[in-house]
Amino acid sequence: MKVYGLIGYPLTHSFSQRYFSEKFSQENIQGCTYQNFSIPSMDEFPVVLTTPGLSGLNVTIPYKEAVIPFLDETDEVVKEIGACNCIRIEDGKKTGYNTDVIGFERSLQSGLQARHDKALVLGTGGAAKAVKWVLKKKGIPFLSVSRRPEPPETLSYADLTPDLIASHRLIINTTPLGMYPLVEECPPIDFNAVESNHFLFDLIYNPETTRFLQYGMDKGATTQNGFDMLIHQAEESWKIWNNLI
Ligand code: NAP
Repeated sequence: MKVYGLIGYPLTHSFSQRYFSEKFSQENIQGCTYQNFSIPSMDEFPVVLTTPGLSGLNVTIPYKEAVIPFLDETDEVVKEIGACNCIRIEDGKKTGYNTDVIGFERSLQSGLQARHDKALVLGTGGAAKAVKWVLKKKGIPFLSVSRRPEPPETLSYADLTPDLIASHRLIINTTPLGMYPLVEECPPIDFNAVESNHFLFDLIYNPETTRFLQYGMDKGATTQNGFDMLIHQAEESWKIWNNLI
């Protein structure tokens, strides 16, 4: 039996276990199982690694950075951004990858137009690092926005003037603001400056339409939630675990 799984804490609303269990059943993939490993501390990670048949792991909050010292090798993206969300385990060797990057890149592509040539990235956590890596790769200049800004690299939300919002037509929410169950929350930006030529991307997938996306829709902007990104990153993990790329 090949065992795949997810490490993180807490894992009360894990998308991955349901996704992979359904995938195994729908695609008639035999001899595989996907387990949640809810570990309150990375001290328990070595125990997870003793699971018989363990062939691959996804990594979620709060361990995407903390897992790196436990790995034997990492790919270039993990080295550069310092966050890993996918581990291939082969003959005991643990190699780290970041499939959030590919997930975001593929999902962004669906709505991206030439006019979305400058971006605002809200939040500076692990997911923001993956987002910024993709923007750099695509040659889209961006400004980071944080509650604890470090000028000139990072702006505060108060720095986001209507002009700045109007001139940055790609706005990406990488904060958890608006995620279930706190669905009333929203990044504090002036939506009056958002227009129909904007593209608002929210990494949150639950709820489907966050306040952030709804305010964008009200202005006729293009919007995208985090669901496709999630599917793309999961499928990319599957390919990595099975040497399909
Ligand atoms: P994280 O490391 O906790 O970072 C989130 C960042 O958001 C923080 O660094 C912080 O930046 C900002 N933030 C946190 N709480 C805030 C608050 N109350 N008000 C304003 N800003 C706040 O989380 P993450 O791993 O980057 O994930 C962020 C979101 O992306 C989550 O909702 C997660 O579910 C989602 N995500 C989705 C996918 C997908 O496939 N769709 C993949 C990865 C993550 P500052 O301190 O700089 O303000």
